[in-house]
Order: sequence, then C-alpha cells, then structure tokens
Amino acid sequence: MTTNDELFARGQAVIPGGVNSPVRAFGSVGGTPYFVARGEGAHVVDVEGRRYVDYVQSYGASILGHAHPAVVAAVQAAAAEGSTFGAPTEREVLLAEELVARVPGMEMVRLVSSGTEATMSAIRLARGATGRRTIVKFAGNYHGHADALLVAGGSSVAEQATSDSAGVTSGAVADTVVAPYNEVPPLDEDVAVVIVEPVAANMGLVPPADGFLQGLRDACDAVGALLMFDEVITGFRLGVGGATERFGVAPDLWAFGKVIGGGLPVGAFGGRRDVMERLAPLGPVYQAGTLSGNPLATAAGLTVLRELDADAYERLDGIAGRLADGLTSAIGGAGLDVQVPRVGPLVGLFFGADPVTDFVTAKVSAETGTYRRFFRAMLDRGVALAPGPYEALFPSLAHTDEDVDRTVTAAAEAATEIARA
Ligand code: PMP
Repeated sequence: MTTNDELFARGQAVIPGGVNSPVRAFGSVGGTPYFVARGEGAHVVDVEGRRYVDYVQSYGASILGHAHPAVVAAVQAAAAEGSTFGAPTEREVLLAEELVARVPGMEMVRLVSSGTEATMSAIRLARGATGRRTIVKFAGNYHGHADALLVAGGSSVAEQATSDSAGVTSGAVADTVVAPYNEVPPLDEDVAVVIVEPVAANMGLVPPADGFLQGLRDACDAVGALLMFDEVITGFRLGVGGATERFGVAPDLWAFGKVIGGGLPVGAFGGRRDVMERLAPLGPVYQAGTLSGNPLATAAGLTVLRELDADAYERLDGIAGRLADGLTSAIGGAGLDVQVPRVGPLVGLFFGADPVTDFVTAKVSAETGTYRRFFRAMLDRGVALAPGPYEALFPSLAHTDEDVDRTVTAAAEAATEIARA
C-alpha cells in the first residue's frame, strides 16, 4: 500500500514542496499531508484508508460535497461528447444566463478557468474602462496570485515572512494601494477600482462591519471609481444572489470561482453591460483562454447551480449554525478562549479573547499557535480542518447532523487536551 509519507517524499523530489498549492504542504500545522484517494460527500479517504470529516471541501469549491452523483453523471456525459473544442458551446450560454439571472445588477459575464484569472482580468478591464491606474485592496483579503494583487494577501500568503511575494516587481504593485479591512479608505480620482472580499474569508472569517460595503459604494461613486466584489468564496454560497443580495449593495464588477465550477476549474467575472462591452472582441481590453468555458466544467457548474435553491441554502445555513454553536460551546467549555464567527454557511475559528475585525487582529489570533495544535488534535480524531489559521471552514450540503456532532465531540476532546498541556 502507498503511504502518505512515501507519496510526500516522492512528490517533494519532483514538485516544489511536494504540492501544487502551498497551503497543502502543512507548513504551518506540521506533519505529513494526507493524500486523498477519494471523496464521498462530506468525507475524504486518504491513500492509507483513513477517513476524515472534511471541512476543506476544496476551499469552498465543493458545496454539494464530494462526488455528488448528479455532478459525476453530468461530467461523465460531457466527457463522452468531447472535453474542449476552441469553439463556443451551448452550456457556456446556459451557465452565463444562470449567473446573470441570480446576481442583481450583473448584466454580462465572461467565463475563465480560475479565481485568479477572474480578478486579474477584471482589474485589467476596470483600468481599461476607466483609463485610471490605481487599484485599492484590503489587507488580509486574497484575490489570487496575479502580480498586482499579491500584496498584503490573506490565505497562505499571510504565512510568508512578508505577506507578499518575491518575483513581483515594484512596478507591478506601484499602483496598488492597501487599506485596512472594515475601514472606508480615502479615494481620489486616480482610483480605477476598489476590490474587496464582501465577507473576508482568507484571514479566517471576518464579516464586514455595518455600513462598510455601503460606505465603499458611496466612496467609489464620489470619485467615479468602480467597485468590485471578489465573490470567489461568497458567490452562490451566501445565498442565491451571493453577497450582493445578502448585503443589498451592488458593485460594478464581480469575480467568481469555486462553486460555479462544481469542482472543476472555472472562474468568471461580470459586470454592468457598458463596462463588460469594453472587453475584446467588442472593445479594446484583451482577455482570452483556450479552456475558458470548458464543456466539462460548465456541465458540473450548471448541475451544482440547479441544486442550489432557497431550500438548499436554508439547509446549509442550519448545518453551519449547528457546527458554529457546537464548536463554540465545545472549545469554550474546555476553557479555551475561542470565537466562531459565522456568516450564513461560512464559519471561522479564532483562538484568543480579542475581537477579530481586520488583518492585524486576525494575525494576533493566528500567532497564538493554538490553531496548529487544534488542527493536529482534530486530524488525529478524523476531522480535517484547513491546514492553516487563515482559512475558513466549509461545511457542505453533504454534512449530516451526525458528521457535525462527531466534529463537536472531537473538538471538545481536542480542546481539553490543549487546555491541559
Ligand atoms: N479570490 C478569493 C476570495 C479566493 O478565496 C481565491 C482562492 N481561494 C481566489 C480569489 C483565487 O482563486 P483560484 O485559487 O481559483 O485562482
């Protein structure tokens, strides 16, 4: 039988760090990552046959849980008809129609292959459409790894010494301004676009303060800047119309990913018609992709969206509520200071007593080191949290009450073990 240790060693010989995305290497939690052999609903099973209740769920891409039968069938059927053509297909139109119908104010959308591509392309579009240079982002928000956005990033960028990346020239970020989350920054007439995670989910989970998103809308309008919601995590997870519907604030541009690809590589960016029509072939802003609108990915995405009606979101909200309440009392009951923020189906986990409202306070919690210990104690008990303190938890529609109750029991034991040490 192959083991995790063996695969990790072989992987490290031929893949930097043995992984194809840094957080997967367990750098901040220690130990050997589990190599997944298969996923089944709320669970993953590793190559050694160990089963975990999975709250990673591909960082939110698998909202129905792993290997949902309808998604498997749709992808199989699509694959049998050919996996990519370089010509338009019907399902691209259907998926774009579904997205536009659900998000209030979004009139057109273009499909790409990742969240990174979505934000990167939308930034270019915002600059091209406004003729302005500056972009404003918030510390601790993560928007993928395009050069201009890779500064003060959350997610696993936050665990690097400098919270940005070598190889990004000062020129590439010269026009990027970083502001603290949850404060409306001063803007001027050079600002092309303000990009924000409407619920910050890459520094743990940090909800927007009352009035923050509306404040951004007003500040952008005052100087003629565009506002972009990066809904790669929140889109089609917070509800049918994502953050726009939930908070009643409509941006000019949106970026999506994860849920809309049903576990296959998809991203999308959209906006008002007048802005989107600046894109090639209609306008002067170039953007393209060989695999954009891929037939397998659109089949998976359409299948997932069809499952996501109001009833499904209500169920997901219930699952997340049971999880958040259970974790709060299990960990708090063991005597550890903990905060379990929740926005609908999104759940966070911060150790420490001080409220977390931005990147500075999120770091204080992450640097206690308690997350690392808790992660390991949970993994030993068959529960897979994200292997880093800056990620959120992603309960899926496949998580049963029994899965959540097992998680809460494990959390009580894990917290007791940590409190005693
Ligand atoms: N934006 C947000 C809010 C994200 O959470 C992520 C990825 N976690 C991205 C953009 C980048 O998406 P991808 O990893 O698909 O490139």
